[in-house]
Amino acid sequence: MTKNKYLEKCRAFMARANRLFNLGFRSEASYYQMEAKNYAASEFKPFNTTEIEIDIAIEMETLMIAPRGHLGFSVIGNKDARTTWLQWRWSLPREIEARKQRIFKLGHILETEVINILRLSGTTILEIDPVTQTQWQFTPDGFGGHFGGSMDGAIQGLAETPDWAVLEVKGLKEQAWKLLKKEGLKNFSPAYWGQCQCYIAASGMAIAFFIAYNKNTSEIYTEIVHTEAYAWAGYLSRAENLITREDAPPSAFPSRDYFEIKRYKNKEYQAVYWGEQLPPKAHCRNCLKGCPILEGSGGKWACKRSGEVLPIARQWEGCKHHLWLTSFIQASVINISDDSVEYNMNGKSFHNSSEPLSDPKKQLYTSNELIAYSQGGWILFDDDNVKRLQDEFNARILPTTQTVNTERSR
Ligand code: SF4
Repeated sequence: MTKNKYLEKCRAFMARANRLFNLGFRSEASYYQMEAKNYAASEFKPFNTTEIEIDIAIEMETLMIAPRGHLGFSVIGNKDARTTWLQWRWSLPREIEARKQRIFKLGHILETEVINILRLSGTTILEIDPVTQTQWQFTPDGFGGHFGGSMDGAIQGLAETPDWAVLEVKGLKEQAWKLLKKEGLKNFSPAYWGQCQCYIAASGMAIAFFIAYNKNTSEIYTEIVHTEAYAWAGYLSRAENLITREDAPPSAFPSRDYFEIKRYKNKEYQAVYWGEQLPPKAHCRNCLKGCPILEGSGGKWACKRSGEVLPIARQWEGCKHHLWLTSFIQASVINISDDSVEYNMNGKSFHNSSEPLSDPKKQLYTSNELIAYSQGGWILFDDDNVKRLQDEFNARILPTTQTVNTERSR
């Protein structure tokens, strides 16, 4: 057995664990997690099994943690608002691949190193807000705490200016770093540039100091970012739109063939992004009954069904009453009632309901069943054999094993 085949097999166990975890079957997920570990430690000893153990541990740790709750300053400048909305609604396949997680973790370590070398050059850096004695955090008024960001630091003593400036640090791969150097920050990354604009406006400082570290060659690139009129107002308005809408905005990419999605994202991601497949996990952020609370602070979400305020972990868990936000289903809405939504897809009527198959004639499907149908391109929807199995045996269709989202690296 080649090393790749061996890794493939271990990953298949992990992928099954991921899918089951998404569906709320925690003990079954643990079983497959153990299977992956056992497989790694079993008769196949030619490879370093600790490698596999590390990957499993990192990926399972990532899966257990709910995604970030708020709409961040770091993504508001993203040129594709559809991606930003789908991310905020936790509805794109997650990047859980262990290698990617290690890259993120290394980014934090690199940030500390960059701050060290900046201090060495004679600058003063405050990583903690002296007023609150916590990390610099900004949550503009009027969004219920759903929009905000955490600044890397404030810096003073730069050769370019005696004033305090926002400090923004990034680690980039060679190719991206070279592009940044050639094009400047605004053209290279509207998202990074937008992040600087947000921190400038929210902190009241006049400029930002952006520093990018080349992870391949250890070269550095620096740029002073000046405030741009109306940029902040534009981001506030975009944040309001994204937080309050219940459907994904149109894509900024001209077609499915556009390289940013087609080249760098896997098939599952592409299908969910373009609305052909439902998100891999049903939870409160993509439920018809879940809604962000815009009053107060803390970025709270509530369930309109139970009236409860939902902590982040509960939002990620969802519940058996989940109904898809209607914008996720590519079908016409016929009727919405308390516990079900009736749709028409190509002349066929069906219900997304929390009561599975209590009346087969009505074609009631839970949200998880609809994920399964969407993963098959909705073909089984019209399959007579499937209907017979449902009618005679009360059979259910569940989503298949999820592919680990291995976004290809740039
Ligand atoms: S019905 Fe369930 S899944 Fe939907 S918002 Fe309420 S608690 Fe969340």
